[in-house]
Amino acid sequence: MANNAVEVDTLIEPSWVIPINPSNKVLTNFSIAIKDSKIVSIHPSCDNSTRFNALDQIKLDDHVLMPGFVNTHTHAAMTLLRGYADDLPLMRWLSDHIWPAESEFVSAKFVHDGTLLACAEMLRGGTTCFNDMYFFPLHAGQAAIKAGIRAVLGITVIEFPNNYAADPQDYLRKGLEARDLLNSEPLINFTMSPHSPYTVSDKTFEQISVLANQLHLPIHVHIHETKTEIEDSLKQYGKRPIARFDTLGLLSPSLVGVHAVHIDDVEISLMANQGSSVVHCPSSNLKLASGFSPIGKLLRKNINVAIGTDGAASNNRLDMLAETRLAALMAKAVDGLAETLPAHQALHMATLAGARALGLDDQIGSIEKGKLADLIAIDLSQIETQPNFDVASQIIYAAGRENVTNVWVNGERVLKNKFFKNAISDTISQKTSFWTTQILNKRTN
Ligand SMILES: [Zn+2]
Repeated sequence: MANNAVEVDTLIEPSWVIPINPSNKVLTNFSIAIKDSKIVSIHPSCDNSTRFNALDQIKLDDHVLMPGFVNTHTHAAMTLLRGYADDLPLMRWLSDHIWPAESEFVSAKFVHDGTLLACAEMLRGGTTCFNDMYFFPLHAGQAAIKAGIRAVLGITVIEFPNNYAADPQDYLRKGLEARDLLNSEPLINFTMSPHSPYTVSDKTFEQISVLANQLHLPIHVHIHETKTEIEDSLKQYGKRPIARFDTLGLLSPSLVGVHAVHIDDVEISLMANQGSSVVHCPSSNLKLASGFSPIGKLLRKNINVAIGTDGAASNNRLDMLAETRLAALMAKAVDGLAETLPAHQALHMATLAGARALGLDDQIGSIEKGKLADLIAIDLSQIETQPNFDVASQIIYAAGRENVTNVWVNGERVLKNKFFKNAISDTISQKTSFWTTQILNKRTN
C-alpha cells in the first residue's frame, strides 16, 4: 500500500460497470470507491492497491455494478393487498374492492408495515429509490428509513375523505407536516401527489400547483390511464385531462405523469414542449386492461420516460428488472419496430430517467464522481445468464431480480450477498401475517 493512498470506506471491484452516463458504455475491470455516502472515484482496478486504502474491499467476479433502479411510481403500503382482488378493470377494482378495503384497514400502522414489506422486496430486487403515492407519508418514511432505502414520498391529495384525512386542506396540512418532520432525513424527499384528474378538483389542482412552485417539488399524478377517464373528463370538463392540465398551468418540467396510455400526437407534443416526464407502468396497464402506452413515440419526441411498478395490488410484483424487460419488449411490439427501446436505453429509463423525473438527477441515477452511492451488483455467472456476449442485453433480457446480490444506498451496504444488513426479514413476516389474518377475518365475516 502506498503512503499517499487515499482513505475510503469501500472499494468495489466488479467485472463490469455500467455507469449509465455516459450512455451505452460498459467499463471492464473498473472499480468504484465510496467515502461517506458518495462515489469518490471510478478508476481502473489495477490502480486499487496503489491509490486507495479501503476499510472494506469487495471483489465481485462475474458481476456488473450499476446504479440502483428508481421505481418512479408505486403505492408501497398496498403490498399488503397483493392478490386481494385480481382480474378486474380499474374502476371496478378500485370502487368495489380497493377503496372499501382501504377504508376498513388503512391506518398509520398498516402503512408502516406495508411499506416495510415493499421496501424489503424492492431492495432485494435492486431498487434503491422509490416514488410513493399513498397516505400517512410520515409512517411510510419511517419504514423506508428503517429498511435503508431512499424514498420520495407523496404529499397525496384526493378530494374525498378517508381514514387519513377529511378534505383536501387536511391532506395538504398532514403531508406538509410529514415533510417538516422528516426534513433532516438524508434518504427522504417529497413530491406533491394529487391522485388523478378524476379524484381532484380544479381548485385543489390550482392550490397544489402554487405549493409545488413555492416548495420546488415535482407534481406526481396519474394521467390518461384509461379510456373511461378521458370520456368522463370530456363529459365533466369538456376537455381531455391533459388539455385540462394545460389550462390549469400544470404542464411543466415538474410534472410527472403516470401511465399516459391513451395519449394522442398533439398531447405528446404538448408534454414534450413543456418538458414533462412520463412514468410507464406496463404490468399494471396490462393487468387492468388499460391499454398500451406508445413509448416509442414518446421517446422519439425526447420525452423523459421513467419506469414504475405501480402498487403490488395491480402488478403484483415490485420488480423493476421484470418491469423494464416488459417495457422493452412491449415498446417494440406496439411500435412495430424491433429497434425501439434497446437494452442500454431501457437501463437508462430504469435509473437516470427516474432520477430526472424526481428532480434528483444531480444526486442519483448514474455512477459519476460526486453522486450518492446508490449501487447494485448483478451476478451474471449463473446458468441462466450464460453465455455472456453483451452485458446490457444480459441484464435486460436474461437476468432476473434473483441475480441481484448486493445493494448500497447512500453508501451503506444494505444487502450483502443477498442478506439484509439489519434483521428486518423476521419482523416483516410477523407483521405481514398479522395483517393477512385481519383482512381474511373481515372477508369471511
Ligand atoms: Zn398508481
